[in-house]
Order: sequence, then structure tokens, then C-alpha cells
Amino acid sequence: MRKVDEHLSIVLDGIGTIDPIELTLLDAQGLLLAENVTAEVPLPSFDNSAMDGYAVRAVDTRGASEAEPIVLPVIGDVVAGTKSRSGMGPGLAMRIMTGAPMPAGADAVIPLEDTDRGVARVALHRPVQSGEYVRRLGEDMQAGTRALVSGAALGPQQIALLAALGRDRVLVRPRPRVLVISTGSELIDVGQRPGFGEVTDSNSYLVAAAAKDAGADSRRFGIVPDDHSKLLDTLESQLLRADILVTTGGVSMGAFDVVKQALSELGTVEFTQVAMQPGKPQGFGHLGNRVPIFCLPGNPVSALVSFEAFVRPAIRKLLGKRTLGRATVQAAALERMESPAGVRQYRRGVLHREATGGYSVSLIGGPGSHLIASMAASNCLVVIDEEVTEVVTGARVTVVPLLLSNR
Ligand code: AMP
Ligand code: MG
Repeated sequence: MRKVDEHLSIVLDGIGTIDPIELTLLDAQGLLLAENVTAEVPLPSFDNSAMDGYAVRAVDTRGASEAEPIVLPVIGDVVAGTKSRSGMGPGLAMRIMTGAPMPAGADAVIPLEDTDRGVARVALHRPVQSGEYVRRLGEDMQAGTRALVSGAALGPQQIALLAALGRDRVLVRPRPRVLVISTGSELIDVGQRPGFGEVTDSNSYLVAAAAKDAGADSRRFGIVPDDHSKLLDTLESQLLRADILVTTGGVSMGAFDVVKQALSELGTVEFTQVAMQPGKPQGFGHLGNRVPIFCLPGNPVSALVSFEAFVRPAIRKLLGKRTLGRATVQAAALERMESPAGVRQYRRGVLHREATGGYSVSLIGGPGSHLIASMAASNCLVVIDEEVTEVVTGARVTVVPLLLSNR
């Protein structure tokens, strides 16, 4: 049997890249930049006032104090948005608003609160230094400087910088389009009451939601019955619309496991057994020599664990992310845990934050991979490595918190 890490590296080797695309700033949020961005304008682009106050020449304020203010005539106002540059001679002041352009001839701003707030004449209660409360052209960023490098993640701060530089679109690595197909003749769609022997399809919702959470643009195709040609026709019809295809179900040993039967005949999709529990049967390969396809087992918990182990890292690789796996934490086991030798076991758990700062974890639900209710009550996967057969109460165990990314 293949080890989880071996299968993951085979999967990742089979994941190429997607051509960068241009997106508007808010559509680019959370993505990685695929170009170097150079500032075409300086920031700020003109000298302006950092305060509401009076533009003055610093030399004219020398010696001013509350007891002996210096009084200057106010020759006008400069408001933010003033399009032409005003000017003033020595011994004068102009009332100025935050962000308004500095008048030629002034080199400092005295804040309103250090004056008598006069309109025709203003009494200054203190001296100011040259440059005080002036935001200089280019002091934030000079034109021609590298603003952001290719590979930078675009969060709100970086988007603000791009906007400040006047960019409306940027080249980014796009969200991979993940198409999810549930297979199984027993499946019905949500919104219907299941008849005897029918099962409501939850996997396509699970995988589409997980793919979206991982950063993909995911779409449910819906349900395909256990029928060789229907499956192949569906996959073929979706090839151009996806960067990754994911099917669930039909990969076990059964006589009606048509995903395995139909796709292994194509020769480009390999079905293997991976030393993990749940999630032993795994299919991976390419369709149309291009589109990676994951064939995950059909039990919902198996589908989730398989997604976390293999599909999530593949999505993150396509996004250009450097860390492909989720962060893990070490937690104290609140109960004894067992696992067969040579198999990596994933159990659903509830992770607790201790008052002392550490973590502890308890299991929820049995090992059965059909248990959707306990999966919904879990907030982490407990990973019991291949070589570990027993975790005694109180021992440390690796936990993968299933935190929502919020994209
Ligand atoms: P399979 O892998 O096709 O043998 O399915 C294993 C188990 O998972 C069976 O009990 C299926 O009914 C169940 N199952 C398969 N696909 C889904 C699905 N999309 N949603 C919920 N349960 C499923
Ligand atoms: Mg099935």
C-alpha cells in the first residue's frame, strides 16, 4: 500500500499551473499577484497638509507663545480638492484643511488648536518648524519604486496600495475552477424526501464547500448514476470548464463501482490503495491529458479526509501558495486512542483551548466513515501517524484544526 505522503507527492507532481489573469481589485482579494507592480505616481502626489490649521512660513512663527502670540493676516482658504496651487508671500497665513495642497511659499502648518482660529487674522500660540505637519510629495513612495512583488498575497492593505497607485486591475493567479460530481445510483438531490434505499447527496456539497474554503471557485455538477457511459459523457462535457475534477463514490472493490471501472480503462487515471483510514481507495490522474481528476471514496467522512489530504494541497498549489498543508497543533489526548500499524488514521475530534494556553483533544463519533452528524460536531482531525499504534491518555497527538478560512 502506498503511504499518504507518497500519494500526495504523486498528486502534486501532477498539478501544473494556470495562466495568470487580470482581475479587478476586489476580485483579486486573497489571491497572489502574478506581476511586479511599480508605482507610476508618487505617494502623496503633491505636498499637502496633515492637519486642519494654517499654512505659514516657519520663520514667521519664531518666538510665538500663548502669552505673546504672533498675529498674521489670513489671505484665504485652501480646501481639499483645490485644483490649482495657491501661493502666499512672507508674513501671511492661509487657512488650510487636511489633505489640501500646500500653497507655494508656505513650508509648515500650524494646527487650529495652537491658534485662536481667527478668520481675517490669526494669533499663533507657538512656533512651528519648517516641514511640520506637511506631507511631502513621494514621502510614502517615490514614482518608479517597486510597490509589490510578484507572489505577494493581496489582502486589504495591498489592495489599498494598488488603489492608491491608481491600478484598477492586476494580474493574479486565478482561483482554480473545481467541479464536483457525486456518483451513485442511490443518490437523490437535496429538497426531496428519500424513499427506501435512497441517500441524499451530501458529498457534492461537502467537497464544493471545502474547495471554496480552500480558495477555489467550486461548482457542483450534481449526481451521476452508476453508469459507465453516463459518467464518461458527463466528465467529457465538463472538461473545458474545470481546472480540477472531483468525483466521490464508486472507487471501492464492488461490482458497481463504475468510476473505478470506467476511468481505469482510460489508462490516465490510476486507482490505488493508500495506507490511511478512512480514505483507503483513491483515484488520481488526468482527463483529456490536462485536467487533474480526483476520485474520492463515497463515505462522507472518507471524502472529507481525502479532500484534506490530497485535494486541498492541490488547490493551494494552483493558487501559488507556498504552504500547501494546513497548520497543525499538538494537543494532549483526553482519551486513549488506537490505530493499526502502518496506517495513518484520521479521527474527528473536538479541540479545546486550555486555560493554561495549551490544547487538548477528544474524539467524537466512532471510526465509522458514514457518521455525518459527528463530523458536523467536530472542529478538527486527529492524525495518528503510521508508526503509532496507541496514544495513551495525556500523550501529545497531532491535530489539524479545520478552521474556516473566510477566503
Ligand atoms: P461508494 O464509495 O460509492 O461505495 O459509497 C460508499 C458509501 O457512501 C455508501 O453508503 C454511499 O451511499 C455513500 N455515499 C456515496 N456517495 C455519497 C454522497 N454523494 N453523499 C452521501 N453519501 C454518499
Ligand atoms: Mg457507490
